[in-house]
Amino acid sequence: MKQYKLLNPGPACTTQTVKDAMVTVGDVCPREVESGDLMKKVSDDIKTLLTSNTDQYECALLTSSGTGAIEMIVSSLPRTARVLNIINGSYGKRIQEMLDVYKIDNEHIDFDEGSLDLEQIYDILDNSEFTHISVVHCETTTGILNPLRKICMLAEKFNCEILVDAMSSAFAYPIDLYRYGIDYLCCSSNKIVQGMAGLGIVLVRKELLDNLHARSVYLDLKSQVNYFSKTSQMRFTPPVQIINSLSIALDELKEETIKGRYERYEYLNTYIRLKMEDLGFESLINKDENSVIITSFIEPKGFDFDAFHSYLKVHGYVVYPGKVSKYQTFRISNIGNLLKSDIVDFIKYVEKYVIFTTRS
Ligand SMILES: *Cc1c(COP(=O)(O)O)cnc(C)c1O
Repeated sequence: MKQYKLLNPGPACTTQTVKDAMVTVGDVCPREVESGDLMKKVSDDIKTLLTSNTDQYECALLTSSGTGAIEMIVSSLPRTARVLNIINGSYGKRIQEMLDVYKIDNEHIDFDEGSLDLEQIYDILDNSEFTHISVVHCETTTGILNPLRKICMLAEKFNCEILVDAMSSAFAYPIDLYRYGIDYLCCSSNKIVQGMAGLGIVLVRKELLDNLHARSVYLDLKSQVNYFSKTSQMRFTPPVQIINSLSIALDELKEETIKGRYERYEYLNTYIRLKMEDLGFESLINKDENSVIITSFIEPKGFDFDAFHSYLKVHGYVVYPGKVSKYQTFRISNIGNLLKSDIVDFIKYVEKYVIFTTRS
């Protein structure tokens, strides 16, 4: 297959070493001790990167895309849970679907896509009893970065546990679960960490495990954590090849550091935003509120996204359609193994597209 620079929000471009790790591992029995050691190493690396207090957290690995990791948390919430779900995009809606499917007592607060009002969240927490808050950190729908630290403070004030979908932010932002007071967090192998798709990741505060209540066999968080801590094994067949490449991706992340990755992404994101705005594409979310991960651009009048997509694809770049309901948008992500030169080259083609397809 032709190789592309992926500007979609994951699965992202990976390094050659991460790709090679899928095959160099060869045929392995997942139940042998080497596979267990590999999974233990990956789980320890993830904990070390995401919390300063690794003794208080457990990491569960799950064969699934990222959505499976969210569902592992939601379907395992305590029997008595009453959740306030904060929605300002399609991933918040996805958590809502799960809460409803599993018939977990909940209310939601639904903001316009791309906005969020902490005071309204405060008021609803102040006026009703909740045990849990669920929130998406970077709403990949628009690119907005929700104020996680402040929402964690509200959770603490109102005595709620908090679960965070950090699929498109974990490993790029310095989220410290312990210092933030996060109880459950999920992410995946194929976004910021720059590994292959196929593994969901859940972190959970250890002391909460006893109260969890399984509503699914495969997604039972407590059983997975308990089984893994005894055996270093997942309960069901693990994708060892993907886990091996994740292990290499984690090594590369440790070398770059989360701070370094953030800075690289921030640079690329700022470059894209400024150049696209120069070329007449208005961004949906203010720079101050936008993540460094992905930017939504409003389509100019008469813009043909399919033609734009095809033109860029011919030149080796994959851009992504929008997901916002009120506006016609498209998205450009800058995660993955991308360099400044890739983005400079990309913008050159956007500029050519604009020059050759507009009349005036
Ligand atoms: C990508 C993403 C997910 C999960 O998507 P999958 O397709 O299941 O991997 C969930 N939440 C957010 C915020 C995401 O960006």
